[in-house]
Amino acid sequence: MTALGDTRIRTVVIIGGGTAGWMAAAALSQTLGRAGLSIILVESAEIGTVGVGEATLPQIRDFNRLVGIDEAEMMARTNATIKLGIEFCDWGTKGDRYIHPFGAYGAAIGPADFYHYWLRARTSGDPGSFGDYCFPIVAAQNDRFALPDENPSSQLDRYSYAFQFDASQYGAFLADFAQKRGVKRIEGKVVSVTTDGQSGFIESVSLESGEEIAGDVFVDCSGFRGLLIEQELETGYEDWSAYLPCNRAYAVPCAITDTVGPYTRATARTGGWQWRIPLQHRIGNGHVYCNRYVSDQDAVDTLMQNLEGEPLADPKQLFFLTGKRRRLWNKNCIAIGLSGGFLEPLESTSIDLIQSGILNLIALFPDRDCADSDRNEYNRLMDLEFERVRDFLMLHYVANQRDDGELWRDMREMQWPDSLRYKIDAFRTRAIVPEYESGLFQQQSWLSVFIGQNIEPESYDPRTEQMASDDLDSELSRMRTAIADRVSATSLHLDFIRDYGAAFDGERAT
Ligand code: FAD
Repeated sequence: MTALGDTRIRTVVIIGGGTAGWMAAAALSQTLGRAGLSIILVESAEIGTVGVGEATLPQIRDFNRLVGIDEAEMMARTNATIKLGIEFCDWGTKGDRYIHPFGAYGAAIGPADFYHYWLRARTSGDPGSFGDYCFPIVAAQNDRFALPDENPSSQLDRYSYAFQFDASQYGAFLADFAQKRGVKRIEGKVVSVTTDGQSGFIESVSLESGEEIAGDVFVDCSGFRGLLIEQELETGYEDWSAYLPCNRAYAVPCAITDTVGPYTRATARTGGWQWRIPLQHRIGNGHVYCNRYVSDQDAVDTLMQNLEGEPLADPKQLFFLTGKRRRLWNKNCIAIGLSGGFLEPLESTSIDLIQSGILNLIALFPDRDCADSDRNEYNRLMDLEFERVRDFLMLHYVANQRDDGELWRDMREMQWPDSLRYKIDAFRTRAIVPEYESGLFQQQSWLSVFIGQNIEPESYDPRTEQMASDDLDSELSRMRTAIADRVSATSLHLDFIRDYGAAFDGERAT
């Protein structure tokens, strides 16, 4: 009989100390550290981290709860602000503006989903904008925030929030956190990898110093280079640049001159788009673009001309290829973070995909033999996540009526994936949003972009006709007023931060 634990993994080696590496280290130490697992993280200060990745999704709060992170402390240590959604400017046509929120629209008023009632009301009157029915949108527009009620009495109060933080401070915060829970950090550059001649499993990595680090499982968090998953195991990369063509970015921080609104902004530009991510101490900015449509010089000029405050550093250029590894888990190596793939930062999905990678790894945590069944299931789950995010990102590009650049024309006219075509057609013809059982972006997210980028449905649910027009109008008016009243009773965003998770003392200029 085999003694219990004989085949158990004893050592996990994480290569890389960026957001992915330290999130993995924090979660593994918290969930499996006491089960006798030794966790080693190798990072190289000389190579450094990618240094971007400041906007998150609400799921990060689940991660914080899982690993026991105090969010007020995290906010103070990382100069974090609150994020209630993303404001998209100029995406459908120039002058358009809408927010994709972390919350639902309206409350149930009959058998059909709320948005069908709003669509119907639009045919005979003016029920206001769709965003007027969503608390986080109205709060964001008014620069206000309140923690959501965990057990809301009204559907209008169902919303969540995420954070905008300084990426390097977040890495440092997680590094402290994980090391206090027993993670061993080794500084050094990996220069070679030893694999088993028969299985091809990674046995150890060697550092420039000559030190050799052995492990049972290796988590590759080495960033775009994919040190283990690609350079050693040659797993291969699915190139999705035909679907998501942006391949470069310039990033630069600037001083705060305006209100630090509780949301990220993404403004469409001729050959890409520009982000604005407000933190407590500065604004993060970047221009994501495709070099087939705009030159590097024009891209950096556009970014610098559209900063709201004085630049605080020189612009930094980043290069990427959208897509993912053919297998995120190959042999005894799991690629998490940029080493696994990158789908451009439009909806702040990368940190969330890191989180999914970590949680799926913990759920399917293998024995030393890394059974095929576990690997296959992990890869299936992660493929689905990546594909759904890809479709949702593409929606922003293809649903446009812009006439100012070839990027926008090409995205409209290209061959869309069938899964995306189906969703757009279902909404356009019958106002239906087919739901996924699980996954990141659900009905309310798709609705935000469909309506925000002017995809006009040809009909709405006929069950809405059960309600008399006057009753519908007064119901809608009641909801708008309830949300507006609730918003005006909440704190200004910076006042909330000052009381909750401020990194600053005393008064702020804005
Ligand atoms: P990295 O930060 O690159 O870390 C790699 C680590 O590996 C480093 O510690 C490095 O030293 C180490 N390493 C590499 N080679 C070796 C070696 N040979 N030996 C030892 N150590 C080594 N995500 C979001 O969720 N929201 C956003 O708003 C967002 N914006 C982005 C904007 C841009 C332009 C880009 C490119 C990405 C953005 N991302 C965003 C993605 C986000 O930055 C990453 O997902 C996140 O930072 C994780 O990166 P990483 O840890 O995988 O890689």
